[in-house]
Amino acid sequence: MSKMVYADNAATTALSKNALDAMMPYLTEQYGNPSSIYKFSQNSKRAIDGAREKVASILGARPEEIFFTSGGTESDNWAIKSALELRADKGKHIISTGIEHHAVLHTLQHLETQGAEVTYLPVNELGQIDLNDLRKAIRKDTVLITVMAANNEIGTILPVAEIGAVARESGVLFHTDAVQAVGHIPISTAGMSIDMLSLTAHKFKGPKGCGALYIRGGVRLPTLLHGGGHERGLRSGTENTAGIVGLAAALEEASLHMNENAKRVSAMRDRLIGGLTKIPASRLTGHPTKRLPGIASFVFEYIEGESIILLLDQAGICASSGSACSSASLEPSSVLLAIGLPHEIAHGSLRLSLSEDNSEEDIDYILEKLPPIIERLRSMSPLWDNKK
Ligand SMILES: *Cc1c(COP(=O)(O)O)cnc(C)c1O
Repeated sequence: MSKMVYADNAATTALSKNALDAMMPYLTEQYGNPSSIYKFSQNSKRAIDGAREKVASILGARPEEIFFTSGGTESDNWAIKSALELRADKGKHIISTGIEHHAVLHTLQHLETQGAEVTYLPVNELGQIDLNDLRKAIRKDTVLITVMAANNEIGTILPVAEIGAVARESGVLFHTDAVQAVGHIPISTAGMSIDMLSLTAHKFKGPKGCGALYIRGGVRLPTLLHGGGHERGLRSGTENTAGIVGLAAALEEASLHMNENAKRVSAMRDRLIGGLTKIPASRLTGHPTKRLPGIASFVFEYIEGESIILLLDQAGICASSGSACSSASLEPSSVLLAIGLPHEIAHGSLRLSLSEDNSEEDIDYILEKLPPIIERLRSMSPLWDNKK
């Protein structure tokens, strides 16, 4: 295969070898249904119990507070829709932000068509909310605050513990989409007053199609899927044993090496930021310091992000112009508009997202290939000509 540099780890990651090894028995010999009575199936049940304990202990939760799902989208949908149902007697007002992932944003937009009212807190140019805005937005009929732990496009880390404290003192449920945070930065459900937390395995080198929702004990979230009564009766369906075991193994590995990975990955990220912001009419998007270790995100004026991605692809570099889900639409990313970028600048976005699998050579290669690509695209842009 020709040279490939994978710099799209915020879209998905490679499966870790440890996770694959842990999964393998449950994809082959250990195929028993965890709900069956005989000894053979009890191996599968034990594996799921063990995975649940592992995930709980890493998140500072109890095993009975962890519910396995099919991923981040399902966990977000479940938490938000069911919280509204749970607190229907109190009202239909939800507080969120303008930079949420589509799994949250489109769920909220759907609920708005069903009579819910949503306040989208503004963010500043770095992607941060103001806690005073949050306090002021809370009303008598507010039933849920849903704010992501870290943004997938611009890497900004949000003040989850502070938001949790405000939610708790106001008696409002707090959900966080922590899909980009878990396995990468420290997150503690108990220490951060979180009521519900979404995560997905494939963002920390686990398998695709398996995630979890943490639901704090005492929050009686309504049933998502009716059926055989799996996941304490809230989410029926025969368990994805291999996926669950792989999720736990990947999370354990990521947590064990979190500090060293973060140090190495953020050093590579900062080399990208240092090198690429030297390009004229370019800038970093997101917070300069409160950002995920792996995400380097930019806008380059006078060009289209999609064109950059295509030329990078020809050079064997996998990158993104923001959220994978928005790549089919012509609208610029809602996140970049929310941080105040004008349409024409938001169109020139690029996200390079790294993992511990990347090497310094990968960074050298990107720093060598990208600047001439920007120059070439600008040489074809009449707007750039006028500017000069
Ligand atoms: C990837 C992602 C999701 C969706 O997770 P899936 O497992 O792909 O459904 C949700 N929120 C954020 C912030 C993400 O990055």
